Amino acid sequence: MNENTEQTAIESTDQQFDQGAVLTTRILGVGCPRCHVELRIGEVAGCEFAGCPQCRGMLFQQDAFGMLINHLRATTTMPPQVPTPIDLDELMVRSTCPACVLPLETHAYGGPGNSVIDTCIRCGLVWFDEGELDNLVRAPGKR
Ligand SMILES: [Zn+2]
Ligand SMILES: [Zn+2]
Repeated sequence: MNENTEQTAIESTDQQFDQGAVLTTRILGVGCPRCHVELRIGEVAGCEFAGCPQCRGMLFQQDAFGMLINHLRATTTMPPQVPTPIDLDELMVRSTCPACVLPLETHAYGGPGNSVIDTCIRCGLVWFDEGELDNLVRAPGKR
């Protein structure tokens, strides 16, 4: 019954992901869209994601993410922070979807916060670079 214990162990690491997310040692089998290191399964507020141990980017299922962001915004203890303007250079960065290897669509997030996010509509995946999830959670507005 314990065969997965080792695989799902939380890594003791000083790496900090946004919103206290943690990575496990389980490898997802796809590479980071930014730095091509293998993504690993992680968990934040009960929601699974795939994280990059190197750049600390986070990959979410779009469906799960909608609920997660509402939950995080409702429960965060971080003070609201006026978002910085969108970095237009970021919109020029092109990456490919780790699952289907087609280009990710780079755009500004449609909700509060000026994060530039990358989505694959085909796979229903959304990628956040480090700090972008925090931005969304801390953006002022209805929680
Ligand atoms: Zn990476
Ligand atoms: Zn895809």
